Amino acid sequence: MEAKLISVVVPCYNEAATVPEFYRRIKAVAGSLQGRSFEFLFVNDGSSDHTGRVLNDLASLDPRVRVIHLARNRGHQIALTAGIDHAAGDVIVTMDADLQHPPEVIPDLIHALEQGHDIVHAQRRIRTGDSWFKLLTAKLFYLFMRFFSGVKLIENCGDFRAFTKPVQQTVIAFRTPHQFLRGTFVQVGFRQAVIQYDGEARFGGETGYSLWKMVNLAIDGVLGFSATPIRIITWLSLALWAMSLIHLGVSLYDHFVSGITVPGWTSIITLMFFFTGLVLFSIAVIGSYVGRIFQQGQNNPLYWVCDLRNLPEDAPGKEGSPREVLLAQHVTKTSGAIDEG
Ligand code: UDP
Ligand code: MG
Repeated sequence: MEAKLISVVVPCYNEAATVPEFYRRIKAVAGSLQGRSFEFLFVNDGSSDHTGRVLNDLASLDPRVRVIHLARNRGHQIALTAGIDHAAGDVIVTMDADLQHPPEVIPDLIHALEQGHDIVHAQRRIRTGDSWFKLLTAKLFYLFMRFFSGVKLIENCGDFRAFTKPVQQTVIAFRTPHQFLRGTFVQVGFRQAVIQYDGEARFGGETGYSLWKMVNLAIDGVLGFSATPIRIITWLSLALWAMSLIHLGVSLYDHFVSGITVPGWTSIITLMFFFTGLVLFSIAVIGSYVGRIFQQGQNNPLYWVCDLRNLPEDAPGKEGSPREVLLAQHVTKTSGAIDEG
């Protein structure tokens, strides 16, 4: 495999403060790699600041800068998906805009691909500049994921990786309304490798990942990759059922043999609450899976585009590919006001 055209996919949500510096550094990296061309594919994920304008200004100066403006904020995973759909390179690199993923690692990623790998994950060796809260939630996230979903995620990798065109085509086919790409990339197989780099602090702006978005990502990771929660509640209810049978036996023995009658309606109430809670929890878990079937059944587009820069609308790609279909169905040529909601 030879990486002639390299697509760098960068989702941006309110990154006006970091995009110019990101562009400066990625341009330097592109310049240092002889004999390869680049496209910088920015996905403006419905930013409410002037990220869109900053990106359009860059696009008007540098034809390698391509911009997909999503009509509203759809979240990091879907913004990434939009970028992957539109990438034309032999090699695709996905990374964050805030420089926590240093562009200078890209040559190592490309090198590892050319050594015969199909997917190369970049793993952060140390996490500098993150608050203790971010470190704690990240740790909990990976612990939770390891326990509940069958996938062995690559810790501290986030979505910084490079992969080849066949991997791109495969991953595009694995779409759900609850994309969890770091799980998908591990699951698809191919020849994978991990390289390490030293972490950097966010360059500017602030994190677009609220605690809420983080919790939702963890739920997507678990529900999207395993039925373990359903299995856990099944075993739990069996165990509780056995316990209540034992309890019944003991009470009957006390009443008829020992002659003690416990006038404990409190315990009954307590147990009733406990079991009602368990039943409701179980319904909620099963309901979450059913909800997914419902959403998938609706077949809504993952994202819709309101403007494109430096991207041919009759973009290359086979007829009927997700990219073609999505563009045909959902591109409206209205630029301008982006609804935040
Ligand atoms: N991002 C996005 N949509 C969102 C939230 C974040 O496209 O709704 C982008 C963001 O601009 C950045 C990347 O996803 O390029 C990672 O987000 P962030 O740095 O805020 O997350 P953190 O590093 O704090 O986990
Ligand atoms: Mg970040």
